[in-house]
This record gives sequence, C-alpha cells and structure tokens, in this order.
Amino acid sequence: MALREENLEGPSGGGKTVTDAEAEDAFRTILKWIGEDANRDGLIETPKRLVRAYREYFAGYDEDPHEVLSKTFSEVDGYDEMIVLRGVTFESHCEHHIAPIIGRAWVGYIPDKRVVGISKLARVVEIFSKRLQIQERLTAQIANAVEEVLKPCGVAVVVKAAHHCMIDRGVRKRGADLVTSRMLGVFRDQAQTRAEFLTLVNSDSHE
Ligand SMILES: [Zn+2]
Repeated sequence: MALREENLEGPSGGGKTVTDAEAEDAFRTILKWIGEDANRDGLIETPKRLVRAYREYFAGYDEDPHEVLSKTFSEVDGYDEMIVLRGVTFESHCEHHIAPIIGRAWVGYIPDKRVVGISKLARVVEIFSKRLQIQERLTAQIANAVEEVLKPCGVAVVVKAAHHCMIDRGVRKRGADLVTSRMLGVFRDQAQTRAEFLTLVNSDSHE
C-alpha cells in the first residue's frame, strides 16, 4: 500500500524547508485574494495565528507512531483477551479541503506476546489525526501501526466521524457520520470476535 508507506514517513516536500515568515506571507496572500485588507487591525496578526494553529493541526508529521508503540510490556502472562480503547475523540483535517474531520475511534487488539499502555493507543490516534487525512487511510494507518509493532493476534479499528466539508459545502447533511473500519487477524477471521468488538463499539453510550 504505497499511500500508507509514503504518509508514515512524514512530509516529503522535496526537502525544501518553508519558514514561518513564508507561510505567513502565503496566508496574507489568501486574505487579499478573498477581498480582505490584510493590514487592517483585526487581521494584522491573523497570518501569525494561522501559522500557530496549523502547527497544532499538523503536529503529527513530526512524530512516529511506531516509536510510541514500541515501549511495550513483553510479559503478558498468557493474557489473551481483547483490549479496547473506546471512543477516543480526535480532530483531523481532510486532505481535499483542509476542513475539520471531527470524530471518535475505537481501537481493539488481542495481544500475542506484547501489550502496550492504553494511552499509547490514544497517542497513535492523535498522531495520525494531526495530519492531512482521508478517513479510510486514518483508519488503516492506526490498525497497521498496531499490527506492525505489537504483532498481536488481531487488531480492530472503527472510526466514526463528521466531515465539515460535507456539512458546509455541497451535500449539506448535518449529523451524517462516516463509519470506517479495518479488521486484521482474528477480528477478520472469526465472526464471533469481530461481533464482540462491534458490540462494544455500538453500545458505547457517549454518542
Ligand atoms: Zn473534504
């Protein structure tokens, strides 16, 4: 899956580094383009603020989910039950419109030899969501990272999210969620295991 490989390695903009000042200039240009006076009081600091905001939105390019997951506990004393991070919230941005994708993720796995702290799973969701995304790839990246590092018996990921580009533009369907999932190992092969996970996802009362 070339797309995933490419994205896991972070930005690959031909090696050219863009300075904050250059990024601020670009935002200033966009302000002018929409018909604004970029120098009026209310907007004078806006390019700077946007650069800071974008740094936060896209902080995930500087971090490696594999490294986060690699701090594992290797003795699990035969623990082979499902471990599930339930409904962790995330904010991402779609790569087509840079519009917010606001959602929640459920990440489950059945360990083989290695387990990881549940907060690390949340970190992995966070890192991948702080990049330009499409929901399908976000879902796959989370599952693949857990599989590659922990080598568990199975991994299951469900992501439910609202896409602001669908709400604000074109189709204008408020309250419509997109649901994506990726099932690997026993979650793919065993209907009962998969059903157990999906029951946890669907019974979650925070919605
Ligand atoms: Zn979009």
